[in-house]
Amino acid sequence: MKTILSQLGLNNKNLGSSTGTQWFANGSEISSYTPVNGSLIGTVQTSSNSDYEKVMSTAEKAFKEWRLVPAPKRGEIVRQVGDALRENKDALGKLVSYEMGKSLQEGLGEVQEMIDICDFAVGLSRQLYGLTMHSERPMHRMYEQYHPLGIVGIISAFNFPVAVWSWNAALAWVCGDVCVWKPSSKTPLCAIACQNIISKVFEKNNVPEGVSCLVTGNASGDLMNNDKRVPLVSFTGSTRIGRHVSKTVAERFGKTILELGGNNAIIVSEHSDLSMVLVGAVFGAVGTAGQRCTSTRRLIVHESVYDKTIETLKNAYGQLRIGDPLDAANHVGPLIDTKAVEDYLKAIEKAKTQGGKIVVEGGVVEGAGYESGCYVKPCIIEAKNDFEIVQEETFAPILYVMKYSTIEEAIDMQNGVPQGLSSSIFTNNLREAELFLSHAGSDCGIANVNIGTSGAEIGGAFGGEKETGGGRESGSDAWKVYMRRQTNTINYGTELPLAQGINFNL
Ligand code: NAD
Repeated sequence: MKTILSQLGLNNKNLGSSTGTQWFANGSEISSYTPVNGSLIGTVQTSSNSDYEKVMSTAEKAFKEWRLVPAPKRGEIVRQVGDALRENKDALGKLVSYEMGKSLQEGLGEVQEMIDICDFAVGLSRQLYGLTMHSERPMHRMYEQYHPLGIVGIISAFNFPVAVWSWNAALAWVCGDVCVWKPSSKTPLCAIACQNIISKVFEKNNVPEGVSCLVTGNASGDLMNNDKRVPLVSFTGSTRIGRHVSKTVAERFGKTILELGGNNAIIVSEHSDLSMVLVGAVFGAVGTAGQRCTSTRRLIVHESVYDKTIETLKNAYGQLRIGDPLDAANHVGPLIDTKAVEDYLKAIEKAKTQGGKIVVEGGVVEGAGYESGCYVKPCIIEAKNDFEIVQEETFAPILYVMKYSTIEEAIDMQNGVPQGLSSSIFTNNLREAELFLSHAGSDCGIANVNIGTSGAEIGGAFGGEKETGGGRESGSDAWKVYMRRQTNTINYGTELPLAQGINFNL
């Protein structure tokens, strides 16, 4: 790990730097421990209030220059960022895996997502299209254009410590915005590594200091919520903190992108292919140790295939290997910290008290190799959809299973939670699939057929409804939120006719 840390420009003690990108940090220290074995990876200094001010004023200045750089030229710099990420994919992927605890495959996959979004953003830099409209008045032309917004504040969660930032930053940069990133205090080293990688590209291209900034420590998040210089706050995290961010930013009429918690379900129809269900459901429930916003939390199974599905799942769970996520032989890595382990244990107890029946036993894994205390057994609990605990998102590998008899009932159960992120049905029945995708079907931002709930591609807009916050990031036309829309009407005639035929004679 030492070689990787030094390749990514990280030390035991990471202080703010101001070359190429902006990061000032003179506040208290935070320590980053790996959940893999509990050891200290390094410490990071947080940004004090005056550091925050310095960063913001540099970002404000940078925006005035950056917005004048033609969008395709901004795209060219993002293309080089993508290449720098390609060069560092291995090292950054390993650090993601080590600091966050996800499997190496998933750590590398996360960096691949960053590369993919850079490629997407390069193309987008030539496609920031507005519409033209026909004016109702003679010799008038009407069109709309999109202008850069300004400073985009990015607040990210621990579970996708690098990809979420890049989804926002790559698009924001080609849109002409500058970014200030407040990463999770649980994964600060990943953020500094990203800044170090891109600062070389920015320096080489004489990108103004402040186009990509970093602030560290939770206090900076709240400063950003209240800061009128930040027209857009893109927040990824829990519904609890998201609610606070949403209110605070709305109070000052700022915009938000809210990417909050999920409570995702797979419907297993009697017309499904069970071998496909197995891969989708098990990866969805235990991948990243159940710490994805799109993790499968509920399995809604048709009564006629219920027993068989449960038996198959039990067998599969029996074969899961829990351990060091950097070892490719293991399926399940650790939770992020021991607080997450407590939440997992409490959720299991609550489910039991509320009437849940254990199908696959959970618990903390102990002994050699598990010294961090963060490894838990993926568990399955038979439950009812309206149990209080089933209605909540527990960020751990707990899968609730339940029975249905009609497809309408299954869809009601799938929709019957406060969150609305990802959903899926496994069926080979066309009518069921189409009903699930129709306006009478899933109410989630993501609805899949014969694919699990997790593992979205960057080409589509990503996000969810209800308590998931309503934000959309990444592909499709998600870029529009990073820009302000302006409608322009030009009169090239010699008369001044008013709209709606209003007469105003002087
Ligand atoms: P969290 O809400 O605890 O923290 C998220 C971020 O908010 C962190 O950077 C944290 O430091 C910061 N923060 C804390 N207090 C703040 C404040 N007052 N103002 C501004 N920022 C503040 O979430 P977490 O535990 O890091 O991540 C897990 C949660 O994130 C889960 O609920 C998961 O579903 C959600 N998530 C959602 C998506 C999505 O796209 N919908 C993606 C990833 C994670």
